[in-house]
Amino acid sequence: MRRPLIAGNWKMNTSLQEAVRLVMAMLPELDSIAGVEKVICPPFISLAVVKDLIKNTSIMLGAQNMHFEEKGAYTGEISPLMLADLCQFVILGHSERRQYFCETDENVNKKLKKAIEFGLNPILCVGESLEDHEHGRTEQVITRQTKAGLSGINATDRLVIAYEPVWAIGTGKAATGKQANDTIGLIRQIVAGLWDNGTAQAVRILYGGSVTSSNITEFITEPEIDGALVGGASLKASEFVSIVNKTAALKTCR
Ligand code: PEP
Repeated sequence: MRRPLIAGNWKMNTSLQEAVRLVMAMLPELDSIAGVEKVICPPFISLAVVKDLIKNTSIMLGAQNMHFEEKGAYTGEISPLMLADLCQFVILGHSERRQYFCETDENVNKKLKKAIEFGLNPILCVGESLEDHEHGRTEQVITRQTKAGLSGINATDRLVIAYEPVWAIGTGKAATGKQANDTIGLIRQIVAGLWDNGTAQAVRILYGGSVTSSNITEFITEPEIDGALVGGASLKASEFVSIVNKTAALKTCR
């Protein structure tokens, strides 16, 4: 049984006030949608306030990144210990972190281990660049990122993976449902090879990259795709609610 999941990655958007307004705008309707896990990932500075706003609702909270050390002299960083009190999920290895902040597979792997140790549900992002895509290296890149990301980690269905082709992120050029489904099927096979088939069948694998309320149906109706990691469209309350609503209507627990 895989429970559908829609996560909103707000990235470096919203002041504290704007975050409050956005949550309040989506809260009543989002809370009432059953059958889908709903996760919002605001910037760090808003986590505590948003946590209070969504208390006693069905909405869960996620962070967008995390350091792998528990504490120490890492100016400007946020540790798993800090997040464990605040949220249930943490996005790790997002392509923007890999691209602009030099995050390596090894780094992402350390973060994943710590997230799991501290009871957080990691959302591991993997995805090929446009160049790799055009040169037919998607399988190679996905295999490397998935294997390295999960290296030394025991089987756990707390893991969520997001397949996010870099060329589809923020570009308005989403993958097709079939493309995403095929690659997600491949990721599931890799997880089965690393761990076991039972766990691989239980791990949720999302698609991310220019998902909107207009194209969510194409993804959510594919058998391997368990939901979406939504960037830009998660900053509009009505869009995000509509994406979750369509998912709830079309995707039943398997
Ligand atoms: C993302 O950054 O995770 C993402 C999928 O962004 P967008 O939906 O804006 O393409």
